[in-house]
Amino acid sequence: MSVFDRAIVRLLPAVPKPVVRRISDRYIAGTELEDACRVVKRLNDAGRMATIDVLGEEIAVPDEARAIAHEYEHVFQTIDVQRLDSNVSVKLTGLGLKLDYGLCRGNLELVVRRAAASGNFVRIDMEDSSTTDDTLRLYRELREAGHENVGIVLQAALRRTLDDIRSLAELGLNVRLCKGIYLEPPELAYQSFEEIRDNFVRSLRELLAVGAYVGVATHDDWLVSQAQRLIDDHGRSRGEYEFQMLLGVRTALGDTLVSEGHRLRIYVPYGRHWYAYSMRRLQENPKIAGYIAADTFGRLISGRNGR
Ligand SMILES: Cc1cc2nc3c(=O)[nH]c(=O)nc-3n(C[C@H](O)[C@H](O)[C@H](O)COP(=O)(O)OP(=O)(O)OC[C@H]3O[C@@H](n4cnc5c(N)ncnc54)[C@H](O)[C@@H]3O)c2cc1C
Repeated sequence: MSVFDRAIVRLLPAVPKPVVRRISDRYIAGTELEDACRVVKRLNDAGRMATIDVLGEEIAVPDEARAIAHEYEHVFQTIDVQRLDSNVSVKLTGLGLKLDYGLCRGNLELVVRRAAASGNFVRIDMEDSSTTDDTLRLYRELREAGHENVGIVLQAALRRTLDDIRSLAELGLNVRLCKGIYLEPPELAYQSFEEIRDNFVRSLRELLAVGAYVGVATHDDWLVSQAQRLIDDHGRSRGEYEFQMLLGVRTALGDTLVSEGHRLRIYVPYGRHWYAYSMRRLQENPKIAGYIAADTFGRLISGRNGR
């Protein structure tokens, strides 16, 4: 990312919401479940699987958390009716983690049971480091209570990740491995691009060694090729791993993976709480300055033309 783009990232919170909405459009399916289903259908037709995320995090009252859990019930019902190839991803703060652990556990169990009734699967997203312990604890509790259809996310940026893999391995893991999007202090997280990449490779090697099912979630060409090599080395067959990417990011890389015969799952978020998610995606877009300039310039031109 250029110095200029990095400066723009720091100014992002000052960008008016309507501009953020327009330039982050491609990362989000829409505000309604039907928008997400339309996108998933298109992805399925193009040979991709999906994971649907109901946007909503850091919610303020228990009823909002319950509403998100119930929304997931609609998601599973619709996946079944429309025969979509999609599981779901959930954020525990959206299910009430910061309000009350028991409330969150109840909501998560509701979603996981509803998924099981359809033979489907729930991926628990990983949020910032203030939630890591509770997230892993809830995951362990659910697995020990006999829920098999639930998986976790681990972040290569965190120094603890290798230890987490080793201590969770006995459960029989299903893990999405990603770099980690949240800004964390140096005592908790690697800070440099290279260190994070190195820990991604180390963590992936460990996950494969302990027999985990892995979702390799990255758009980084170098990591994708390292992952392909490691997957080959471990003799994994097509159904024993998957690649994962975000909606609206590096579609051509996804085309290549699918044409090479890998399974690819696309993360499809929808809902009315689009702002926090959009800001995270924009801060990773290496051409962010260009997008903002094009949006502003485009509107100036159309304004001048009276449109
Ligand atoms: C399916 C999926 C689920 C995820 N779930 C989580 C989670 O639960 N918790 C968590 O902390 N993080 C999650 N992430 C985000 C992840 O941690 C990274 O922040 C994100 O994937 C960017 O890292 P990268 O590995 O793609 O490498 P990068 O080096 O950031 O990106 C590689 C290249 O991809 C392109 N690119 C990346 N992002 C964008 C973008 N937004 N817009 C345009 N181009 C882009 C650029 O060309 C860039 O050079 C998830 C990512 C994926 C793919």
